[in-house]
Amino acid sequence: MIVETSHAQALSISLISACLLIACGVTDEPRTGPDPAATSPVNTSLDAGAKTTDGGLLSEEPFIIHQVEKGQTLWDIARAYDLRVVDILNANSMSDADARRLKPGLSIKVPGAAEPRPIETAADRSSSEEVAPKRTGGIYHTIKYRQTVWDMAYRFSVPVAEIMAANGFTREDVIALRAGQQVFIPGVERDLKGKVKHRQTPRQTKIQRRFGIRANKLELGSRRTASLLLTGQVDPRWVAAAGGERGRMPGTLRWPVTNGWFVRGYGSGKDGYHLAVDIAGEIGWNVRSAASGIVGYSGDGMKGYGNVVMVVHPGGWVTMYAHNSVNFVVAGQRVKRGEILAELGSSGISRGPHVHFEFIYNQKNCDPAVLFRPGIRHKDGHLTPIEYTTWKIPKKKPKWVKCAKRRNYPHDDTEFKKSDDSEKE
Ligand SMILES: [Zn+2]
Repeated sequence: MIVETSHAQALSISLISACLLIACGVTDEPRTGPDPAATSPVNTSLDAGAKTTDGGLLSEEPFIIHQVEKGQTLWDIARAYDLRVVDILNANSMSDADARRLKPGLSIKVPGAAEPRPIETAADRSSSEEVAPKRTGGIYHTIKYRQTVWDMAYRFSVPVAEIMAANGFTREDVIALRAGQQVFIPGVERDLKGKVKHRQTPRQTKIQRRFGIRANKLELGSRRTASLLLTGQVDPRWVAAAGGERGRMPGTLRWPVTNGWFVRGYGSGKDGYHLAVDIAGEIGWNVRSAASGIVGYSGDGMKGYGNVVMVVHPGGWVTMYAHNSVNFVVAGQRVKRGEILAELGSSGISRGPHVHFEFIYNQKNCDPAVLFRPGIRHKDGHLTPIEYTTWKIPKKKPKWVKCAKRRNYPHDDTEFKKSDDSEKE
């Protein structure tokens, strides 16, 4: 087993196996009807009586409408305005597919911008590179043996989608990457000692400062919080901050990766220890919140899980999203249903890019299968015909939602590949 020592926490089994899935899953992304994120209602007040929410705070920011011109990518626009691609996606309720097929003439909201700025496109960059071959605003990284684009994303905390856009890579280019090749990693810099530092956008700093205050007050964001949430021990203050017992509880869960597919279910693995659902996806895909709530934990402090986001929902449910390449949210931040939390990856003990999704309530892990909307999605795009159920009142659990105490088992998603094979028709 090869372990890359530069990853402090990551046991990078993923180094060996992350490419297995991408190699076999290169198809154009099919759409399965309207993106629930795009049609979900605008976030209204989560706290009864409160005048504004984070959604309100962010929408109060100045913004301009940018009309997309030919050749411009979302990444070009984000870069010009010192934003992350995810900021623009969330501000416009755009899906991953929308992001990749940006049509000229489309009007998009640019959050935090006061006036238009010039946009530099790939074509502009290549002509300027003839004069100055070395680019600024990032570093060049030489790919190591068996290092994947997800490993680079995790190591440098830069989304795969941004690495691809900055290098003009297609999915095929990413799969064809080999050791020794140089890749431009945008948004990071080396200090004098050669250590890589991540440069945050001013907006990110502002958001983190603001949510950090709330997280501290509520004692959210620590590893202790993470272990409490993992076992479904939810502080009533967290539930209140998430929107309370009567907050917006649709009683269902949004399938967290729009075009992601089911690879492994609840109760799989040795002695049925895997009380979670594994959802696989492709390069640069986003992981979205299954319901509205408040981020309780965002980090990589839990062994085996890689980058993890945990969200507390009104009513006291908790959802968890593990193995991400990059997390976009911070503890204390309120999120809407369908809001982008992270970029799908293969960090921690993981075979191939996927999300390990857990649905936790009252000290037990529950099977989310019947609550997912639009349903459990399979690789060919079909949805499992399941009996849809809703769970609106925490104490009135529908009988077809199975719940069980978390097994005291080391977390291991390495069986994931096996069940993926059995998944293929
Ligand atoms: Zn899993």
